[in-house]
Amino acid sequence: MADCRLKVGYVLAGMGVLAAGMVFFGSAAHAASQGRQATAKFDGRRAFEDLQELVRLGERTAGTEGAAQAAEFIARRLRDAGIQVRLDSFSEDTPWGRGRFTNVMGIIPGQCDSVVIIGGHYDTKAGIGRRFQGANDSGSSTAVLLEIARVLAASSGQRMEKWVVFFDGEECRRSYGPHDGLHGSRRLARRLIQSGAVKRIRAAVIVDMVGDRDLELTIPPNCSTSLISLLQRCAADLGFEGLVRSYPGPILDDHVPFLRCGIPAIDIIDFYYGSAPGRNDYWHTLEDSLEHVSARSLEIVGRIVVEMVRRLDDCEQMPARK
Ligand SMILES: [Zn+2]
Repeated sequence: MADCRLKVGYVLAGMGVLAAGMVFFGSAAHAASQGRQATAKFDGRRAFEDLQELVRLGERTAGTEGAAQAAEFIARRLRDAGIQVRLDSFSEDTPWGRGRFTNVMGIIPGQCDSVVIIGGHYDTKAGIGRRFQGANDSGSSTAVLLEIARVLAASSGQRMEKWVVFFDGEECRRSYGPHDGLHGSRRLARRLIQSGAVKRIRAAVIVDMVGDRDLELTIPPNCSTSLISLLQRCAADLGFEGLVRSYPGPILDDHVPFLRCGIPAIDIIDFYYGSAPGRNDYWHTLEDSLEHVSARSLEIVGRIVVEMVRRLDDCEQMPARK
């Protein structure tokens, strides 16, 4: 997850695009999609087992052996579930030299041309210390996405193609900018524009820091309002009323490159990860460890995102992107 406080201007530069990218997902689409899909169940304990395995790899900083092992682990887990895997390895100039990155994507086929992206990062922040686990940032997003991929692959009757994307290089080394941080998500957004496939993408649902034992989703204002509403409805309908709050300022995360190219996008994040409510003092410290995350939090977020994706999954009813 990105330290946004210094980068507010960078985010706000994308807000005009954000407004242009908004679409509205009405209750009619929801009603039409009900009953068509058989949705498998998200298992928080299984996700937590993946999280434990990831943490055993140690630091997963982009370009390191730990990150390579994490990418291999993710790809293996996806293939074990019968999911087609696409690896996108690339290099970019960065303030510390040439950086190497690998995005891992699980493709779950659909019946129409439209695509929903569900994504999050798997790299960890550099320079915290050799014992850094990154259990929440980015273990939780990786583990939740793996289980979501398994659930979607096991669910029948889906219309849209789903891309479950594990981004590398979300964390910056020095400060966020066009060559530092968000490498994986910027890469995918750029390729979507270059190939023309951007027109196929109906939404990008990003998760980050979603494993906190004391879970509270703090959604920043630089997200598509239609997706914030959808998140709130899904959380309430699943019995998690009060879980979704507004974060007081914009957050720079992997959803921003998608907003910038006109794709409706949301960052589902709990940015109060700390020793007391409202504090974020475990973030980017050695305290970001397994003892401060839980299988239950992974399961709550996983169930909500699966429900969001289910309701988005109606390419006939979906209004056109603007
Ligand atoms: Zn982070």
